[in-house]
Amino acid sequence: MLTWFCPNCWESIPEDGSRCPSCGYRLSEYASLSYDEKLLLGLSHRIRENRLAAVSILGERRVERALPIFEHLLENDPDVYVVREIVRALYRFQSEYATRLRVKATGHRAKMVRQAARAALHYDDGQNLEGRAEARQ
Ligand SMILES: [Zn+2]
Repeated sequence: MLTWFCPNCWESIPEDGSRCPSCGYRLSEYASLSYDEKLLLGLSHRIRENRLAAVSILGERRVERALPIFEHLLENDPDVYVVREIVRALYRFQSEYATRLRVKATGHRAKMVRQAARAALHYDDGQNLEGRAEARQ
């Protein structure tokens, strides 16, 4: 049997309900959201696989609105697998903001995140991004 989750609070909900019994979210509102907005909500999904998928697709689509959320998760998400996926997604973006976040991730407490960030920086080939960030501070 499929389990349905409220896209607002991620409690399980009955398939046919119009409002979430836990938080009152109007489930019909969800249907009217854009694909990108649904992906952004997916970043707080309680199931890791779904969070990973949301991060990855937001990266593929280069959704700039995801970057402030990525920044927050880089600093606060205890799930290092999600944080590593964010670092990988970041190098799809061309903006200065994304670059700054990638440089910041090279100082992350988790080794696998730092490694992913360094690999991503390497990918830029030739550009000394770490040096530029230091010069700006
Ligand atoms: Zn809810």
